Formats: sequence, structure tokens, C-alpha cells
Amino acid sequence: MTATDTTVTSTTPRTAGTATAEALRAATAVVGPARARHHVDATGTALPLVRSANVSMARSRDVFGVLRPRTVAEARRVVQVFDRFPGACGLQAISTGHNWGLGSREPAHDDVVTLDLGDLTEIRALDVDRGWAVVEPGVTQGRLAARLAGTSRMLNVTNSASTTSVIGNALERGVGFRAQRTDDVLGLEVLLPDGELVRVGWWPDATRHTPVYPHGLGPGLADLFVQSDLGIVTAAAVRLLPRPQAQRVVRLRFTDAGLVEAMDAVRGWLVAGLVDAVPKVYDAAATNRYGGEAGAGEFVAHLCVDGTDRTIDTLVGLLVDEVRASGAFTEVSAYEEDRDLVDVDVAHNFAGDPSSNDAVFAKTFGTTPAGLDESGHGWLFFLPMVPMTGTDVAAAHRLKERIATETGVRFGSVVHVLSTDYADFVMSVRFTAADRDQVHAALDLAHELFAEAGFRPYRLDVDHAAWVDRLDPDPGARALLARLKTALDPRGTIAPNRYGVPAR
Ligand SMILES: Cc1cc2nc3c(=O)[nH]c(=O)nc-3n(C[C@H](O)[C@H](O)[C@H](O)COP(=O)(O)OP(=O)(O)OC[C@H]3O[C@@H](n4cnc5c(N)ncnc54)[C@H](O)[C@@H]3O)c2cc1C
Repeated sequence: MTATDTTVTSTTPRTAGTATAEALRAATAVVGPARARHHVDATGTALPLVRSANVSMARSRDVFGVLRPRTVAEARRVVQVFDRFPGACGLQAISTGHNWGLGSREPAHDDVVTLDLGDLTEIRALDVDRGWAVVEPGVTQGRLAARLAGTSRMLNVTNSASTTSVIGNALERGVGFRAQRTDDVLGLEVLLPDGELVRVGWWPDATRHTPVYPHGLGPGLADLFVQSDLGIVTAAAVRLLPRPQAQRVVRLRFTDAGLVEAMDAVRGWLVAGLVDAVPKVYDAAATNRYGGEAGAGEFVAHLCVDGTDRTIDTLVGLLVDEVRASGAFTEVSAYEEDRDLVDVDVAHNFAGDPSSNDAVFAKTFGTTPAGLDESGHGWLFFLPMVPMTGTDVAAAHRLKERIATETGVRFGSVVHVLSTDYADFVMSVRFTAADRDQVHAALDLAHELFAEAGFRPYRLDVDHAAWVDRLDPDPGARALLARLKTALDPRGTIAPNRYGVPAR
């Protein structure tokens, strides 16, 4: 087959199976047979691939092919091919596909062809002085963080494996130790459904230095492609954070009786500028699961303090004084002594180094991240955003306890304090295949109870994509998104994702 086959245009109505088979045949000519996986039967109909495992034990969808381009040019030609076969399955883009806890590589709906961008691994440009990097979807947080070691900048890293994608996580609105990852997105290079390649937001100018200001002029377009099925991202300009000269982590312990007071105190220290980055508050279940130590009903908070070599002791001292004066905490330590795996891991991540996360995976699952989906372990996330007040965080904890009482399924929780006004209330549960249905029923209940309380998730797992319509406060906003999808993708070249509205 030659490259000219990719220009074949669909002229007659076809069934999805044959149109998909023809599109796959043409796309295989683009990426090469070694980078295309699909089955076409004797009648020329594409068949779903053998179903793959995912650690969430979410329902496996019908995926009709996987295409792994090596370059943006190849990815672009694949999109153009699928745009010419309107009856074919839509494309589902993934970066490294490690969306563990939310469905991993599974698409939200059946009948897709996966466009796996994990082999686009170029760090195209990096400017440590000015604080940005341009990366492709296969660039992992471990690799970019390692490039920055010893420099004046660092990456905002997550607690997930070092092999996870910077772009995939940011597009999912993932959460790092220093900010929500979308806050790091300066600009995006996007393939539109007709194959046009556009850049939105800030992008480096090859001839002169422009301020690294993401908003530009006019409506912001980059956010249109976050949690989005309007385009496929082939590169991103991401923010690199200034590395503080000195950093310390202050660990606090408190009991559930002091939860409201403790969370209000943490908020007050954020307001006062006494703590930096994203304060993290683990309950006992999460602490013990990730390799730390906490007694029943105990919480462990990890607060980051940034400073200079001359100021850091004073700044930590001021915070410790505040902690003691509040009376809400049973223990305070500045991490010099008694370090467990969670302490070590948190300190590394606040400093932009995700390399110890794999040890947490080994402790939590007894396996490497690479083998997680096939390991037989189960793992689910539920990710509501809650108002950042002691009362609201305590209400979220009570809902979590109610789920344990009603279903027998105990989620662990980590509160990521993203701002003085909202916090990411991460609920996770490890389970076995035997408990699968019980745990998924508990997740359904979590959706019901948290939505009723007004604590809506900011990310969805593949089995709860339908919730997006129930959760949007204004149906007009969904209708607007549907109009945008129809305008940009009239032939359904990109498959509907967990957050989108199918093209009509
Ligand atoms: C123990 C543990 C700890 C974790 N800690 C964290 C954490 O601290 N913070 C956190 O956020 N997550 C965490 N996770 C969840 C998850 O592993 C990460 O979010 C991970 O970064 C997502 O996988 P990925 O980077 O491979 O992205 P992908 O799976 O490749 O992408 C995620 C989604 O983004 C979209 N997408 C991806 N690439 C493109 C593209 N090129 N164009 C358009 N759309 C695209 C797709 O909808 C895709 O499903 C954790 C998981 C585990 C098991």
C-alpha cells in the first residue's frame, strides 16, 4: 500500500464496520503496519480488538483499532484520513494512557479507534531562564523533571508514576503538588477534526523573547481543548516553576474531632502566606495505604514552606508557632526525624521530583506502574471539588463515612488544598475482582451523595460520563458546546469523550 491510498474519499454510504476498515487500511499506510493494530474479517468489516484490562475494572469498550504515529505529521494525516470516512469510528486520543483510577486507556463510549500519541516524545524547546518548555504528548513527567534537576526551574509534578504524561494529565485537569496542572498550560498545538493544525494561547516566538503570558488578546481558546473532544493536542507549552532556594515540609497530625478547626487553620495560613504549594491532608486509610503510618481516626497534613537559605528556619519557626498556638494539632514536626515513605515522597514531589512515586506504587499495589492494569488489583478514584472551609471538608468526610457504613466500602481520602476557596477531595479505594461490583456500587452512591451536597467532581471516570449532563449547572452551556462540536467536527472524526457532546 502506498501513501497515496490515504487520499481515498468515502463516496457511498457504508456500514460503520466497512468504513472503519477502509479508514484503518488508509491510516495503516500512514503509520506503517507495525504501528497499527486492527482486525478486518473476510467481508472487509473491521472487528473490535480483544478487550484489555484496566485497573478500575471499568467496562471494556469496543475499540476497533490502535494507531501509534511517530510524528505530528503522521498524526495529522491519520486525522485527515478519518475525516474523509464519515461512517467510520471516531478517533480517541491518548498520551501515555495511564489514567489509572478513571478507566486507564478505555474510551468513554464504544466504537472508537485509539490514536496513541505515546511515541511523540520530543521536548521541542526548553527555556529555564524564562520558565517554559514545549513538549509532546509522550513526554513523561519523570523525563521532564529530570531535565530540570539542578536548574533554577522545576516541574509541577503529580503523585502518579514518573511514566505518566505531562500533557495527558494537564488535559485531564490533573492535580500536581504545586498547582492544578491546567494552570501550567500556556499554549497548545492542536489538530482540529479536519486535520488543520493550530496553535492557541502562548507560544514561544523563535525570533525574540515575549512575556510568558497565557491569555493573549481576545477570547481564550486553549481551554476549549482541555477535557475536550474538539481537537487532538500534539504539543503544549508548559510553565516551569521557579525553584525555591530552600524548601521544608511541616507535618502535622490531628484527630477527626479537630478536623474543622485544623482545615480552617490551614486555610488561614494560606491566606497569610505562611504556606506554599498545595497543602495535602491524608486520612488514616490513605496514609497507611501509601506507606505512611497513622492511627485510627488520625489525619496527617503536609505543608510546604519555601524560602531562602537565610529565611527558611525563621519561616518554618513562624508556622510551627502558629500550629502550637492553634491547639488543633496533636503533633508538629519539620520532617527532620521519623520519616516514613509518605514523608519522603511528599518532600520529593514538592521539590519537583516524582522519582519516588514508583516506590509508593510498589507499596500500594505490590507491582510496578507498567504492570498495574494487568496486575489483577483494583483501584478507583472519585474526585469531587469541595469548598475550602473546615465545615465543608468535614461534611465531605461524613459523606465518605456514610458510604462506608451503607456499602461496607471504605474510601481513603487526600485533600489537596488548591486555593483558599476550593479543595480537591481525592477519594480512592483499592479492591479485588471479587469486590468489584460492591465497590462500583459504592462509587455510584458517592456520585449521588456528593452531587446532592453540591460537591461536584471535576474529573469523571469512564463509567460515569453520563453524569456530565446531570452536573452542568446550565443546560445552555451544554447546548453551546454541542454547537461548537457540530461546527468543528460535523463528521464525528473525533469520538465523544467523557465530557463532550456527540456531534449531530
Ligand atoms: C497511586 C496513584 C496516584 C495518582 N496520583 C495522581 C495525582 O497526584 N494527580 C493526578 O492528577 N492524577 C493522579 N493519578 C491518576 C493518573 O495516573 C494521572 O492523572 C495520569 O497522569 C493520567 O494518565 P496519563 O498522564 O497517561 O494521561 P492519558 O491517560 O494519556 O490522558 C488522560 C486523558 O486526557 C485526554 N487526552 C490525553 N492526551 C490527549 C491528547 N493528546 N489530545 C486530546 N486529549 C488527550 C484523554 O481524554 C485521556 O483519557 C494517580 C494514580 C494512581 C494510581
